[in-house]
Amino acid sequence: MSPWFPRWHIGGTCLLVKTDKGLVLVDTGLGLHDYSNPSPMVRFFKLDFGVHNDHENAAVCQIARLGYSPKDVQHIVLTHLHFDHAGGVPDFPHAQVHVHRREFEAMQHPRKLTELAYDQKDFIHNPSWVLYEQPNAEWLGFEAIRLPFSPEMYLVPLFGHTAGHCGVAIQDNDGWIFHCADALPTNAQFNLTPQWLNRLIIGAHVPRIQAWATTHPEVRLLAGHMWKSFFKQQRSAV
Ligand SMILES: [Zn+2]
Repeated sequence: MSPWFPRWHIGGTCLLVKTDKGLVLVDTGLGLHDYSNPSPMVRFFKLDFGVHNDHENAAVCQIARLGYSPKDVQHIVLTHLHFDHAGGVPDFPHAQVHVHRREFEAMQHPRKLTELAYDQKDFIHNPSWVLYEQPNAEWLGFEAIRLPFSPEMYLVPLFGHTAGHCGVAIQDNDGWIFHCADALPTNAQFNLTPQWLNRLIIGAHVPRIQAWATTHPEVRLLAGHMWKSFFKQQRSAV
């Protein structure tokens, strides 16, 4: 049972946003095929992260329980293309998939160790890609790329974990949600992992984001993987 690695009991952060262009899903988490026919990599991930092997956890099933059909999700914005963030892409075959061009190219030609976590099965249906490259905006001090949705949404390049990894900022009433994905560790608020390890696995952004967050109380920071207790609180808050 993976004795060399603690079990984390965490879930993946996926956001469903109502926009002027229909529902936008920000990261998909694991997809149906990761439950029905998981690769060895996905099996290990589910074991270590304490993921229940129940396909009802897939975003497409959770969204159906909210009363929507998969076709209502017209756009998917991905922080990066690792299997645990993009595994659900084939469950929404009609959606346009928005991602940074560098990330798309890294997935096509993986070179680094962290790029082994791309699963080509997630993209075998040849989705309709929308690729972004040049920052064309500033979002609260970060170079950013404006996404074509209202409420305002931005891709915020936070390269390091993968070649084209980005955070996603979403306007939320009076404030913002900043989905930092794997540029921020699950335990960011406790600093449980040393910065050298963070730099190695998730890039060099943690100290900057933590310092920046102290001056931006209007921003709600989310990591790509949060404790399961966080998701339970969200459910009871709805
Ligand atoms: Zn990742």
